[in-house]
Amino acid sequence: MPRGEADALLGCLLMSELFPGRAPEGRALLTLLAGGARRPDLLALPDDQLTAALLRDLDGALGLRGEPTLLGVARWPRAVPQPGRVHPRTIAEVRARLARFPRLALAGACFDGVAFGDALASGAAAAANLLAEETP
Ligand SMILES: Cc1cc2nc3c(=O)[nH]c(=O)nc-3n(C[C@H](O)[C@H](O)[C@H](O)COP(=O)(O)OP(=O)(O)OC[C@H]3O[C@@H](n4cnc5c(N)ncnc54)[C@H](O)[C@@H]3O)c2cc1C
Repeated sequence: MPRGEADALLGCLLMSELFPGRAPEGRALLTLLAGGARRPDLLALPDDQLTAALLRDLDGALGLRGEPTLLGVARWPRAVPQPGRVHPRTIAEVRARLARFPRLALAGACFDGVAFGDALASGAAAAANLLAEETP
């Protein structure tokens, strides 16, 4: 969601469009995301207030034609790294300091990108670097 167009909703994944069999025929399964660095306070809202705020935003974006038939709320406090402006510099410094330990590799969502694909690529690159160190 663009900043300023939603109070609570960060974004929405159309799960039943991404993966077959996630919703019965004629229905859709959506994952709505909220919180993060901008609105960590939302985590403390009771389920009914949180879902009401999210559905209001979703309605503003998509125009809902009915109430959800099934709702589930899951909370993962501090689940995803929130890199700020200094993040690239910090990571460069960490890597420079660790250069003297060539057999230690760092990988994961907190280094070069939080998306699943970035985390995967970071693991593959770390493994490749370690293997290169092993090869005489
Ligand atoms: C709710 C949510 C929705 C998301 N949606 C998307 C999305 O739609 N698209 C997308 O691209 N990304 C999404 N992400 C982000 C992405 O999934 C994560 O950033 C990525 O999977 C993180 O990978 P990782 O390997 O760094 O960490 P993790 O996947 O968290 O892996 C770390 C592993 O280390 C293990 N571990 C932790 N501590 C120890 C220890 N001391 N000893 C041994 N093992 C340990 C953990 O059990 C875990 O298995 C989402 C994340 C969340 C939380």
